Amino acid sequence: MSPSTRATPPTKGNPPVYQLNANENPYPPLPSVRAALEEAAGRAHRYPDRFHTEVTAALAARLDVPESHVVMGAGSCGVLQHLLHSLVRDGDEVAFAWPSFEAYPHLTAMNRGVAVTVPLQDETHDLDALADAIGPRTKVVLVCNPNNPTSTVVGRAALERFLDRVPAEVTVVLDEAYREFVTDLDSPDGIALYRDRPNLVVVRTFSKAYGLAGLRIGYAVAHEPLAAVIRSSATPFGVTAAAHTGAVASLAAEDELLERVELLVKERDRTATALRDLGLPVPHSEANFVWLPLGEDTEAFAAACTAAGVAVRAFPGEGIRLTIGTPEANTAALTAATSFARTVTVR
Ligand SMILES: *Cc1c(COP(=O)(O)O)cnc(C)c1O
Repeated sequence: MSPSTRATPPTKGNPPVYQLNANENPYPPLPSVRAALEEAAGRAHRYPDRFHTEVTAALAARLDVPESHVVMGAGSCGVLQHLLHSLVRDGDEVAFAWPSFEAYPHLTAMNRGVAVTVPLQDETHDLDALADAIGPRTKVVLVCNPNNPTSTVVGRAALERFLDRVPAEVTVVLDEAYREFVTDLDSPDGIALYRDRPNLVVVRTFSKAYGLAGLRIGYAVAHEPLAAVIRSSATPFGVTAAAHTGAVASLAAEDELLERVELLVKERDRTATALRDLGLPVPHSEANFVWLPLGEDTEAFAAACTAAGVAVRAFPGEGIRLTIGTPEANTAALTAATSFARTVTVR
């Protein structure tokens, strides 16, 4: 898969019954979040708070970080865009593993940066190779943990060794979009790591575990002056008032939301085990999706899923990223996987 591989537009025809192709949360907003959003709709003629006061205070309290370290954006993609826009000048290099999040090459090119990609090893970040790829023109290194699309994580000690090798003038972004789904105790927590590392930015989002992908709100946590540098490129009023409201209401309902996350994690492990029982290769997942590195069989698996009304994300020639949905949706995907496994064995 080349870094220029872009998402394909939705296919025409019958809409899929189950959308397991975008790593979305399958559960709609909680009643309390919905009520807050309905109330916010009545104030839509007013501009949002451009300083994000309420949500910043809520996040700072939740994460035990100073408010000045929190930078809001329209999704973590918005925050990444601000960061790269601030830090990258013509021809500067942005290094990241590949395959990884598809937005990285796009955002790098948008900001006139040069992408330097480092192949994964066993579907996992090769942090030694990533550190070796840092040169005099490297401005930013992006580390996606867990990695999208392969779902794997790096260990805490390995990440700390890597961070120790990165020169102080290079900014490291730890993209923790799936952090809430991580159950491996050896996995690093970016917020713990950033505290004594002024060149580390942690990026998180309300899109996945909190189920607010449609509202567009995410954030970065970094020391000053890096936080101020990211903020300086932010679009004025770029985060909507509804997004602020949804995020604050979600933090207030966090216990209830994390019960859903727990259910998704159980379903992830059930789905991964069942796929392995079919003889399919599935690396250990710490996210809300699983990765099937099927190579040439990728399209056949996707076709079996489409026929069963399940939309999955296919990376042609590479593999399938299957988002964990409701138990019913995952079971439908497993039924499709069973018929796929049968045809592959027969062939
Ligand atoms: C989904 C995802 C995001 C979140 O994007 P938003 O803009 O916050 O919706 C960020 N990083 C990775 C790796 C993702 O998979």
